[in-house]
Amino acid sequence: MKSIQELYPQLAQPRKIAITTHQKPDADAMGSSLALFHFLKKLGHSVTVISPTNWAKWLDWMPGSNEVIDFDFSRQKADEVLNAADWLFCLDFNIFHRTKTMTEKLKSLTCTKILIDHHQEPDEVSFDYGISDVSKSSTCEMIYDFIVGSGHADKIDEAIGECVYAGVVSDTGSFRFPSAKAAVHRLVADLKERGLQHSKIHEHLFDNFLENKLRFTGHVLLNRMQVFYEYNTALVAIPKADLFKYHVKTGDTEGLVNFPQTIQGIKLVALVIDRDEERKWSFRSKGEFDCNTFARKYFEGGGHYNASGGRSSDSLDVTVQKFKDAIKENKSLLQ
Ligand code: 5GP
Ligand code: MN
Repeated sequence: MKSIQELYPQLAQPRKIAITTHQKPDADAMGSSLALFHFLKKLGHSVTVISPTNWAKWLDWMPGSNEVIDFDFSRQKADEVLNAADWLFCLDFNIFHRTKTMTEKLKSLTCTKILIDHHQEPDEVSFDYGISDVSKSSTCEMIYDFIVGSGHADKIDEAIGECVYAGVVSDTGSFRFPSAKAAVHRLVADLKERGLQHSKIHEHLFDNFLENKLRFTGHVLLNRMQVFYEYNTALVAIPKADLFKYHVKTGDTEGLVNFPQTIQGIKLVALVIDRDEERKWSFRSKGEFDCNTFARKYFEGGGHYNASGGRSSDSLDVTVQKFKDAIKENKSLLQ
């Protein structure tokens, strides 16, 4: 993988560009894709964002989201764009299988592939150019760096600022995680000086849900959470029946994993959801517990040191038992 800087001089020539991200894109995935989309269009390229799957409705406020193609839903249209692309940007993921049903298509493409991501253990051989930096707060921060680094800071407009800010806010837990370094606050200051109205974005991100999400959250915290004080761990396991009962849609479970972290002394939070195709795990830790290693070792996953995800083909009961065995095995690290 060649350095991303080597791409800068090549930005001058107009190209057909596809941008993609991980399945079920969150605010950082969608924000980084759309920020780059607006930027590259301003440079005169022909640009399309393709999401491997659908996304949460509450991301639809993002400028340009109405032009994003859902690969699952519009396969033919997406294939046409991908087949014609000169360049493919892969944002907020670093290994093709994070795009689920799009994986084989991406592998088959012979165009120039470019990685911009902040997760651990990138599959570098699959990309021609790129930057992988786990010290970065968000992929949105990296898109901002890309724009500034290429000498085009003047192209940062309202739409780009809003998309970048949304991803930064989300991935830093509203600036509370250690990843919110001085450079992140400088980025925000710069966006503010360019006219960003940040309160509006917080409302879009956090005050934009339907009643069912809140009711569902209440139910889950009351009835589906177990706390293992011996291991400073909280577990939330959500059966399929709950998803039906509360009409849970894509994105409605986002943020749930953060609530148990507010319990005094809790070091690890695990959330597992019984989805149709798999049991999907989310892990969050505080301080010295490596969620990335834990997810990789026990649940076919990965991510960051303090936030990761994984999966299992086992039933909900079986995968929950495996989790309980795993925290026993990790007792010394959790105390
Ligand atoms: P979340 O719990 O919000 O879904 O994911 C937390 C972090 O872990 C995100 O940065 C996400 O990209 C990563 N992640 C989630 N699920 C998986 C997975 O199955 N495999 C890998 N490698 N990373 C994941
Ligand atoms: Mn991210």
